[in-house]
Formats: sequence, structure tokens, C-alpha cells
Amino acid sequence: MTDRKCVGCGIVQDRKNMIKITAQNPQNNIVVNGDSKIFGRSAYLCYNNTCIENAFKKDRLKKVLKAPVPQELKGKLLNEL
Ligand SMILES: [Zn+2]
Repeated sequence: MTDRKCVGCGIVQDRKNMIKITAQNPQNNIVVNGDSKIFGRSAYLCYNNTCIENAFKKDRLKKVLKAPVPQELKGKLLNEL
């Protein structure tokens, strides 16, 4: 079972095709978890602008990760596309 739900649009798909964002333990540093080696609560996003923008609206990403999400992460994610 490797399907994950996108925080932006709610679509469920294989996590290989998604951006993984993790609140790294123990300080809840928010990292883009490209190789999935970092342990912590994670959120997934499709590789597109709309889902990234949506994830930052209404603090959705923050709610999923249960951690403060730095605003500069959005630019970083958009650069990953
Ligand atoms: Zn999506």
C-alpha cells in the first residue's frame, strides 16, 4: 500500500508520483523528503502548482503536519516542479 492522498486536491495516487513533505523529529523541521529517509509526520502533494498553492491555503499543510510551516517552503516546492 503506497498510495497517498494529496493535501492540495485530495486525489489518492502512488506516492512515487508525489512530493513528500515531512515534519522531521524531534524539532518538527519541515523538510522536502525526496528519498523518504527522514522520519516524521508526512504530507504528500502532486507535482503541480495548484496543489502546492492549495496546500498553503487555509493552513492545510500545517494541519496535516501538525507543525508550523515556513512560508518560504512554498517557493522551494514550486522549484521542485
Ligand atoms: Zn494534488
